[in-house]
Amino acid sequence: MRVLLIRPPYTRLKGVGQSPYFPLGLGYIAAVLRDNGHEAAIYHAENPKSKDECVLPDADITFNFRSKSYHRYLESLKDDNHFVWAEVRQTLRDYKPDLVGISLLSVEVGSSLKVSRLVKEYNPDCHVLWGGLHPSFLTDESLKLPEVDFVIRGEGEYSSVELCKAITERTPLSQVESLSFKENGKIIHNPVRRAIENVDNIPFPARELVLYPETFDFKSLGSMIVSRGCPFRCTFCSSRNFWDKKVRMRSPENVIKEIRLLKETYGTNFIMFWDDSFTINRKVIEKYCNSLIDSKVNVSWKTATRADLIDEPLLDLMVKSGCVKLEIGVESGSERIKKIISKDVSNEQIKKAFSLISKKGIGVGGFFMAGFPDETLEDLEDTFNLMKELKAGELAFNIFDPMPGSTEYDKCIAEGLVAKDPDWTNFLFWPDAYYVKNIKREEFDNYVNMIAKWLYDYNNKFTTKLKRSKHLIYYMLKNDPVFLVNKVFKYLTRRKRVHAAGSS
Ligand code: SF4
Repeated sequence: MRVLLIRPPYTRLKGVGQSPYFPLGLGYIAAVLRDNGHEAAIYHAENPKSKDECVLPDADITFNFRSKSYHRYLESLKDDNHFVWAEVRQTLRDYKPDLVGISLLSVEVGSSLKVSRLVKEYNPDCHVLWGGLHPSFLTDESLKLPEVDFVIRGEGEYSSVELCKAITERTPLSQVESLSFKENGKIIHNPVRRAIENVDNIPFPARELVLYPETFDFKSLGSMIVSRGCPFRCTFCSSRNFWDKKVRMRSPENVIKEIRLLKETYGTNFIMFWDDSFTINRKVIEKYCNSLIDSKVNVSWKTATRADLIDEPLLDLMVKSGCVKLEIGVESGSERIKKIISKDVSNEQIKKAFSLISKKGIGVGGFFMAGFPDETLEDLEDTFNLMKELKAGELAFNIFDPMPGSTEYDKCIAEGLVAKDPDWTNFLFWPDAYYVKNIKREEFDNYVNMIAKWLYDYNNKFTTKLKRSKHLIYYMLKNDPVFLVNKVFKYLTRRKRVHAAGSS
């Protein structure tokens, strides 16, 4: 069976962009399909295919431009002649899939639906499968869409293989674990598959199966994960319910083997570990670091973790093994809000972690959120103050979106802040999101705009940029100075264009 696995476009349709990244989840599914005799390809429709598209890291988008971008996305969904849809049509015609699998988040429902429609236009007999966070939690809502034939809930690797087998061999769909499907107008949910016990047994992501390989650079192909699952209970997050409460970790040998493969195949010396909280299991992380040092594999790497999961001896070991940047999910500067959202890391712990990381000479980024339903202006002030205090090389600020599968989403429905069956193609996501009970919309917008404006200026200061990029500049100077010069040239050209658009 020919399977095309798609990450739908989103930021690209907003007219802004993000650094290309390899969709790891689809890479794992493609590898398992390939090993079971199917043909599979990965189409990352989010990666721009032409240098004429506006692409700039989020931190560099002007505030005006940012506020317009979500509506630009909504408009693109109605524009049948948009160049991205032409590209999707062409890709379908070229690849000729029998089944298209789309992995999506709630914010991407509109574009996933559009892609699904294009699949059915291309060939009404081509099957459409949805997977990922949104359809796993809102399965019935997803299957009610006529264009969606199947949903796989949760971990998708082996259920995808079973589904392909059931379709080709015409065996009952009821035997495919974790599958939901439609039969005689009814939605059927098969029992859920047990989480894969030994994650070392999953083949490495099939990076070689990407379409348009020229849109992936050395950095994006160096994406990896070492674990699945999260034991914490942050109420705004659905990751814990998607994977498992129990964390399953790969062995150091398995991780080093993949890094070596990446180096040998793609010349990648820069690894990004996209784990929910990389340092969850200190003992295992120490083993990874020691293996990285002993194996002399010599790579630079970055990852994300919680401020309460690092300390000086662990940081020293991480830096010695090649760590060049850490990103920390701070969320809020208000202790009251942190209690409500079950993010039990105090401001003192956060400040200590940021100063410790900076002391080690590596990059540090902080991720913040505002707009939780119980937030007050005082809470917002606390968040803004903490942002300013941290002096991080990178600060990101988002507005709370209620995510299906999270406690906060259920709470928003119970309190009438979100409709029971919302229209996901027209949902209020950032920058229009507003779910705060105690602050008037205008006051909230004004405060948030003020933070966003400050943040834009902060992130665009030369000194911040240098702090943010020094690990990459160092890496490129060491490994590929020509690439660095090209990168700077491209960056300056795009920046000029995006800023011209943003100030209009
Ligand atoms: S936000 Fe991070 S730490 Fe909290 S539950 Fe989600 S993945 Fe775990």
